[in-house]
Amino acid sequence: MSQRKLIVGNWKMNGLSAQMVELMALIERLDDAAANKVKVVVCPPATLLAYAGDVLEDTQIDFGAQDCHAKASGAHTGDLSAVMFADMGAKYVIIGHSERRANHGESNDAVRAKAMAACEAGLMAIICVGESEAQRDAGQAECIVLDQISGSLPNECAPQHICIAYEPVWAIGTGRTPSVEDVRAMHLSIRGALRARFGVQAGDGVAVLYGGSVNGKNAAVLLAVENVDGALVGGASLTADSFMEIISTQL
Ligand code: PEP
Repeated sequence: MSQRKLIVGNWKMNGLSAQMVELMALIERLDDAAANKVKVVVCPPATLLAYAGDVLEDTQIDFGAQDCHAKASGAHTGDLSAVMFADMGAKYVIIGHSERRANHGESNDAVRAKAMAACEAGLMAIICVGESEAQRDAGQAECIVLDQISGSLPNECAPQHICIAYEPVWAIGTGRTPSVEDVRAMHLSIRGALRARFGVQAGDGVAVLYGGSVNGKNAAVLLAVENVDGALVGGASLTADSFMEIISTQL
């Protein structure tokens, strides 16, 4: 993909209403010229989505949710659906983050059903995949990631509703990142899987993000790797300063 990079901030379970000042600071610093070069998305916790929708109205920054239920509505106390997020103005939803796969036992089947719900609601599903450290050490990283891709992508979903985020589990929140060569090799394999599934043109149109300890110091190098179309950023997306350091590498 040769389009502008997609930089997505995942705030996880962080931020009270006061955190909106960071979003306002981001809006001030991301002028139209910058927005033409990079697409920025912020995924706050569900409690802040309505605030985010207000603050981001008429700006070039989109917002998204961090998870959704596989069903559109029903007796699922405490859950939230993709349709509800779309109704709030969200454009994206992160699905199958490794923290959800680990903490909530989400299988590829569960992730696929959620991704389908996201597509049906008209959202862009950011489907997360990535190997554990033990799996990488055992030489299984590529096999695990391709298996997750094959199991987590809904057949019926149009490729323009899907993004992939490759996030090695051992790189999330640890300050460690894979070597450039390992990122290149994994993204090439993922691109191959997307081409095999959707055809070359449509497969090349699916954004493949890298995630795991991206910061202002390593972003330029990671985002320059072939087939890295953007970044999913956790900790460094929480302040406008640290998020802008990453975004600025693309301006
Ligand atoms: C994430 O949780 O998606 C992530 C990449 O986190 P961090 O940037 O903090 O490693």
